Amino acid sequence: MTAKPVRRIGVFGGTFDPPHIGHLVAARNAQHALGLDVVLFVVAGEPWQKVGSRVITPAADRVAMASAAAALLPGAEVCTLEVERGGPSYTVETLEALGRVHPGAELVLLVGRDAALGMPTWERFEDVCRLATVAMIDRPLADGAPAEDPPWVVHRVPIPRLDIASTELRRRVAAGEPLDFLVPPEVVSIIADRSLYRGRPL
Ligand code: ATP
Ligand code: MG
Repeated sequence: MTAKPVRRIGVFGGTFDPPHIGHLVAARNAQHALGLDVVLFVVAGEPWQKVGSRVITPAADRVAMASAAAALLPGAEVCTLEVERGGPSYTVETLEALGRVHPGAELVLLVGRDAALGMPTWERFEDVCRLATVAMIDRPLADGAPAEDPPWVVHRVPIPRLDIASTELRRRVAAGEPLDFLVPPEVVSIIADRSLYRGRPL
């Protein structure tokens, strides 16, 4: 009898405020490059490194948008563990919880280049690297960012560089500029229906 292959679960955390095609292209190519059985879009409940520096859209709105985006990608699912847990969203706790739910699975943490470089500031960074294999997705960075790959990166997921960020998309909505083709139409509709990002600081 052949052993059942280990399940590989992609763990793609983000604020998803809003989700955009950079996230979807990243997730799709991570599936392809790494043979992931599923990609979880883990919506941060309280992104502790962002709280205080800007307004975070209510989790229910971000879950709705991330769900609409994930529904466009076969093999992708939204994970609301961090939203349900409440308090600051520490990736290490999410990985521990996923490990309990999926014993024996390999957890592959998907991070854009900016997030990969910032990982040493995360809560219990060493445990994060013990609990998951880190896969880094290419992303254009500001001038002066380190050119080398950090040593904790195990896999690299090449994608065409997409200079798209949620911060710029929030600015666009506030300025009345279109989001079309930067964000899936389903997400554009949710933003319009719920009047998100209008007339407020970024
Ligand atoms: P914000 O501007 O609000 O920080 P963001 O566009 O960076 O938004 P996040 O929700 O912070 O989106 O990102 C979640 C994850 O997706 C992070 O690991 C981030 O590096 C990655 N990511 C976001 N945008 C891209 C992109 N254009 N290309 C590759 N990776 C991306
Ligand atoms: Mg970001």
